Amino acid sequence: PSPQNPNIPSIGSRKPSVPDLSKKSSFTGPAIVKKAMEMDNSGGGKDENLSGLRAEPSLKHFDENIISLIESEIMSINTEIGWNDVAGLDGAKKALREIVVLPFKRPDVFTGIRAPPKGVLLFGPPGTGKTMIGRCVASQCRATFFNISASSLTSKWVGEGEKLVRALFAVARLKLPSVIFIDEVDSLLSSRSESEHESSRRIKTEFLVQLDGVNTASDERLLVLGATNRPQELDEAARRRFQKRLYIALPESESRTKIVENLLRDTKNSIDSRCLEKISELTMGYSGADMRQLCTEAAMGPIRDVGDDIETIPKDDIRSVNLSDFIAATRVVRPTVDDSQLDAYSLWDRKFGCLP
Ligand code: ADP
Repeated sequence: PSPQNPNIPSIGSRKPSVPDLSKKSSFTGPAIVKKAMEMDNSGGGKDENLSGLRAEPSLKHFDENIISLIESEIMSINTEIGWNDVAGLDGAKKALREIVVLPFKRPDVFTGIRAPPKGVLLFGPPGTGKTMIGRCVASQCRATFFNISASSLTSKWVGEGEKLVRALFAVARLKLPSVIFIDEVDSLLSSRSESEHESSRRIKTEFLVQLDGVNTASDERLLVLGATNRPQELDEAARRRFQKRLYIALPESESRTKIVENLLRDTKNSIDSRCLEKISELTMGYSGADMRQLCTEAAMGPIRDVGDDIETIPKDDIRSVNLSDFIAATRVVRPTVDDSQLDAYSLWDRKFGCLP
């Protein structure tokens, strides 16, 4: 695998060149390159679990390192997330249950005209729980979860991305049922990519071919979940392949309080329902990720009060997190999503969204 060559323009160049390590997608270039080199040195990897995958006839023609990387960096099996962990978004959750989870559980019933869509797009502002929902769907289906960021494919894997896409779908087919979650799918399928670098175009073509393959194999329990903050950039060919397009909006007041409740569950606090109401009032326009950030900041209030004694103070003597901590935190943690962007999402939702 080759790290990004700064001289080669890529689709990813519209994004910050520094990888966003706060994102859960674990597919970060340099670490992978390092890992691949280590594997080279050790004669193809030491992990014995991998020998099973490598022995698979359908994977024989793929580079061993690519298969190892998919297994170690992109694939995960044991993440237990329930629908209740995701606050709000009831419409999207209901739709996903119907179009994905039930058909995965009862493939015998969901055939013919009831056959489920194989491509689902989650769109909406950043930090609203798209990745979380992807994990939740995979967990509820007891499916293998593959999580890859499309911008890392196009920006860091110049020349290799196409092979990786092909290998990814091949491994997913061996690990059925599978959910492939592709974050920032706009950078892969953007209508602008035609004018971009040749390798980006090849990745896009390969991806569309793979999506078509998934869409035609109606009885295969493989779902492709794309996520994007920029649905407007998807062209018609891409939209068509994601038959269901679900708007993942900013959390409503009730969902924001639920997020706070969930996050404070294990931390001593004096936040009662009146405080929650106040916090919810103060956080209009905050995304789920902003709410998380806010809670982290508020939870530091009591620690800062302790000052230098923090090394010795008994844990029980640290005071509870209170409303004042949250009020102070709202001055530091501001909403990241701009109102003007919301109109664009609503417009796209009205045109192409699939929620009632
Ligand atoms: P996205 O993929 O839409 O950018 P993520 O799923 O990565 O957003 O969300 C980032 C973090 O924000 C999550 O790990 C979670 O802590 C919090 N979060 C976002 N939306 C929700 C939600 N609806 N319910 C609970 N937590 C949420």
